[in-house]
Amino acid sequence: MKIYGLKEKIAEVDSCSELIIDRQKWLSGIMAKSFDKRDRKTARECLDLIAEYDRINQMLESHQSVFNPEIPTVFLDSWFLEDLIKHLTPGEDEEVSYITGQSINNLMIPYRICDVTLESQSTVFAKGTAKSCMNVLIEINRRGFKLLIMAHSHPGRGPGATSPSSIDTGYLGTIQKAGADVLGIIVTRDGHVGFFSVFNDFDIVIQGKGAENVVKYGHVCKISLPCENKNKKNWLCR
Ligand SMILES: [Zn+2]
Repeated sequence: MKIYGLKEKIAEVDSCSELIIDRQKWLSGIMAKSFDKRDRKTARECLDLIAEYDRINQMLESHQSVFNPEIPTVFLDSWFLEDLIKHLTPGEDEEVSYITGQSINNLMIPYRICDVTLESQSTVFAKGTAKSCMNVLIEINRRGFKLLIMAHSHPGRGPGATSPSSIDTGYLGTIQKAGADVLGIIVTRDGHVGFFSVFNDFDIVIQGKGAENVVKYGHVCKISLPCENKNKKNWLCR
């Protein structure tokens, strides 16, 4: 078992690349000396090995690019999103949660939902207490993570109901302006999940069955929720 995160794993791959470049430099030295001595056979072998190292390095780079996408990219699964919808829609009122998980470079893998205590709540509004929001951020930081997503629920149905209000964009914009790479999520009771950002372009990758891209609405997907009527054969019916 290894106890470390993506950061350490990527550092391992980086050190592998550095080792390969070192070996190539070393082989280039031998190759130059072989040319001086007119030892064509050794020079040829060195050249072949350098080309082989090049191929290995290209493979490593293509693996590294998965961990360092050009724009902030969130990797999620449909099961987690289903849990998040349930978590944020226990009743009629709006709910708010902070989400953390692993992150490295532009890659974010959110998986932990942290609750904040609400100071006011209605069907169209929810606000966490300053103290509780601060405590959650301190706890996330203390454990070596970063806040990745601020999520809340909206009333209404359909993809349009996931559109952020001016309060939502104002709040997230202030946090992004302060330098945090945080995205917003808005969920509805009928399984729509909308992602939003005020300043940064971003991408979302969702793994697992039961997620459908709502193309016309940009970063919105529809999650098939389990059927409340257990007698129905199709368990993904909402
Ligand atoms: Zn909202």
